[in-house]
Amino acid sequence: MKISFYGAAKTVTGSNHLVEAAGKKFLVDCGMYQGKITEEYDNSDPFPYDINEIDFVLLTHAHIDHSGRIPKLYNEGYRNPIYATKATCDLCSIMLPDSGHIQETEIEWRNRKRIREGKAPLPPLYTAEEAIKCQEIFRPVDYDDIIDIDDNISVRFNDAGHMLGSAIIEIWVQEDGKTTKAVFTGDLGNNDLPLLDSPTMISNADYVVMESTYGNRLHIRNDTKAEAFLDIVSETLDKGGTVVIPSFAVRKNTRNFI
Ligand SMILES: [Zn+2]
Repeated sequence: MKISFYGAAKTVTGSNHLVEAAGKKFLVDCGMYQGKITEEYDNSDPFPYDINEIDFVLLTHAHIDHSGRIPKLYNEGYRNPIYATKATCDLCSIMLPDSGHIQETEIEWRNRKRIREGKAPLPPLYTAEEAIKCQEIFRPVDYDDIIDIDDNISVRFNDAGHMLGSAIIEIWVQEDGKTTKAVFTGDLGNNDLPLLDSPTMISNADYVVMESTYGNRLHIRNDTKAEAFLDIVSETLDKGGTVVIPSFAVRKNTRNFI
């Protein structure tokens, strides 16, 4: 088994991993670069592998930094299956067209500037309509089912507790007379949250590819969070200040992050 990392390595967004195993090539996630990193990596750059050789895609969850370049993949001719949980497929049917709409709006703004500078206008990365079309290659799967992709590759999607439909993906590959197991955690949630189940515990693996975005800091305990939050609000209000609460959300017409 050979794993190549083409995004979300040394940076947080643009999740995109290529796995070569048992005579097959497949991707885990095909996300978009977002934020400051887009100065360094352009989402419109060609994929660093031949997309005609990709047999299937496994998608951990719907967030755009994991799914956002799927319509680009489709536009360039990829028609093999994309396996994802049912909820992830449903969310992608809303979020990818929304992302297409953002691409169209942003390129319009950039092109106005380019035309003023005498440069040729650029096409959007993909349109909302193109993002709707790519839904046809999504294959919904259930949590906990072992799915035989072929005689040598099986996968299982387990609840990652990160967002609706998010999955930790176990992959079993039979090659050279032995079974190797890789686990891709995707983004991981926390334990004991009111709205989401806790991440599934995976008991064994030969290789683990794990999200580590907040791996260098300690989370405060859930049962003390509400109190800590209220302390910050009261302290700020006592000083006559204003409390701004940033909230990561999946919704239409917004940028969808991590
Ligand atoms: Zn995420």
